[in-house]
Amino acid sequence: MFTKILIANRGEIACRVIATCRKLGIRTVAVYSEADAGARHVRLADEAYCVGPAASRDSYLRVERILEVCKQSGAQAVHPGYGFLSENESFAQACEENGIVFIGPPVKSIRAMGLKSAAKALMQQAKVPLVPGYHGADQDPALLQHEADRIGYPVLIKASAGGGGKGMRVVNAPNEFAAALASCQREARTSFGDDNVLIEKYLLQPRHIEIQVFADKAGNTISLNERDCSAQRRHQKVVEEAPAPSVSAAQRAAMGKAACDAARAVGYVGAGTVEFIADSQGNFYFMEMNTRLQVEHPVTEMITGLDLVEWQLRIAAGENLPLTQEQVPLNGHSIEVRIYAEEPEKGFLPSVGRLAYFQTPTPSAHVRLDTGVEQGDEITPHYDPMIAKLIVWDRTREAAIERMLGALAETRIVGVGHNVNFLSRLVGHPAFREGRVDTGLIERERATLIPAVSELPKEIFEVAALAQVAAEREQAARSSSPWSIADGWRINGAQTRSLQFSAGEQTATVSLRYTPTGYLIGDEPARVQRTSDADLRITIGQRHINTAVVKSGEQMHVFLRGQQHVLTYVDPLVHAGESEETQGGLTAPMPGKIIALLAEPGAQVDKGAPLLVMEAMKMELTVFAPSKGKLVGYLCNAGDQVKEGVPLVDFQPGT
Ligand code: ADP
Repeated sequence: MFTKILIANRGEIACRVIATCRKLGIRTVAVYSEADAGARHVRLADEAYCVGPAASRDSYLRVERILEVCKQSGAQAVHPGYGFLSENESFAQACEENGIVFIGPPVKSIRAMGLKSAAKALMQQAKVPLVPGYHGADQDPALLQHEADRIGYPVLIKASAGGGGKGMRVVNAPNEFAAALASCQREARTSFGDDNVLIEKYLLQPRHIEIQVFADKAGNTISLNERDCSAQRRHQKVVEEAPAPSVSAAQRAAMGKAACDAARAVGYVGAGTVEFIADSQGNFYFMEMNTRLQVEHPVTEMITGLDLVEWQLRIAAGENLPLTQEQVPLNGHSIEVRIYAEEPEKGFLPSVGRLAYFQTPTPSAHVRLDTGVEQGDEITPHYDPMIAKLIVWDRTREAAIERMLGALAETRIVGVGHNVNFLSRLVGHPAFREGRVDTGLIERERATLIPAVSELPKEIFEVAALAQVAAEREQAARSSSPWSIADGWRINGAQTRSLQFSAGEQTATVSLRYTPTGYLIGDEPARVQRTSDADLRITIGQRHINTAVVKSGEQMHVFLRGQQHVLTYVDPLVHAGESEETQGGLTAPMPGKIIALLAEPGAQVDKGAPLLVMEAMKMELTVFAPSKGKLVGYLCNAGDQVKEGVPLVDFQPGT
């Protein structure tokens, strides 16, 4: 076995590979771009080397530089992860020439499967079922049109060198063919530098089912069950599961055999995935083979109990497969979702930003989280916008779905746009629950999966109001002012307070009355108790609500029943303070009585820190720091009656 390997990748997959290396006692060498200097994979590895600027082609794709780091660090092998150089035959070749083991298949297998058309020709010879179509070398447009007519519409034009859902065009009628061909070729030329295409029958409502294969150098080849990756947006996977809900044991065996035949036909070694497209009658056809570890490999690990990265390392080091086909386990059901920094509401546009808050469920035998980022890290525009993969396991598919919904409800992200709400709706959708998942599901159910902005229920605002008063109370308790005890607020009996919120176009006001034991909202008693940094246990009347509320600037993110709602707390005093010249003093917005002074004179405070509470028009109002600055001193005392416009606080903005 190797004693030191280099991981030519970043993000969650680099971290994933490092985890197995640790377990096996293999030292790890990370490479990173300047944009990733503080990244999690760099922090986890035993050694790390910078390989260039942020752009992938100047860093993670630099073959020479990566080989140089192998030599410098003494790494005996390279794990390429997925993407980047993982399916690059010249890289695999260069590793070989430099005496470094490429943890992947032989160069010839990568080459054979690299182009979709050549791969299909090979598969035809190996008698692997193919989608009816044309994958010849002759690219004459008239011939291609003729072939499309012969196959029958709709057809799919695919760039032979394509990948990642790019370079594909569906054509519904003969007169649309020429334009679609030209546009597909243009995209293929710019994206892959190769405009060869193939044509396939476009299957309606198909499933994407893929088989994990493994082969060793001794020629043993086995399949490790299937994965269903039909839940796709823009031909890209977002949810994967194993086993596939629609596949019988006989189909599993037939697909497994076809996949092993495909792998043998190209002299395969290591981990690979043979992707099939299956129609509603249960027929399946070869689409392509990915000659690397897949993003979704964890669902296979969960139902087999195997560590696929360990298998990759052992096979690359020359060991044989540890199991025969008959010994491959299949236990229970596993589902993975890809949590992306993207906005489903905006056509799944990627989002960038800092993960101001990032909380995930606690890992267990049922829940696994693979990620390359932590709270405080940045999602940059340079790389794939995946934040994490959340994987669950349970005995049945139904139980796994419930696990996933629970785990998604515990996944809280503030700072970048993300698809967690969308994923919850997708996994909870009746069609998904019933296993009726095909590649068109998301597009067809768009309106239910990505609902138009609707009015938020009153409860969300009540929760936000209680979170706001709880936060103020805690902040007051942290200051050492004698008035800071929350009870001081009720010195003159019950007080009423109106809190105003906005959410998009919607505005709402919540009136709270302070009572000796908590609050009254309308005539319902309410209580709020903090259980961790963001988690609150709230009771309103008979309702018990577990929620989390995270403040980020002016925004409040309310996490309730698996959905995240974003609101803004509109404090009239903060806003009044902002528009005025605040230098020197904050003044009383209306006549009233000072109830409590909340901060220590001389203290440095943050924007929004509560400074004092006054009672005016039977309501309690809190005066907040309008910006970061110094509380020089108070110009009033608790108990004072003040007129409107009277300076209350000597406040000095700035640090
Ligand atoms: P890529 O290499 O870009 O990922 P694939 O060939 O793997 O492209 O196809 C990606 C997705 O496109 C599939 O998962 C499936 O949803 C859809 N697709 C591909 N071929 C067909 C087909 N013949 N009919 C219907 N859908 C297809």
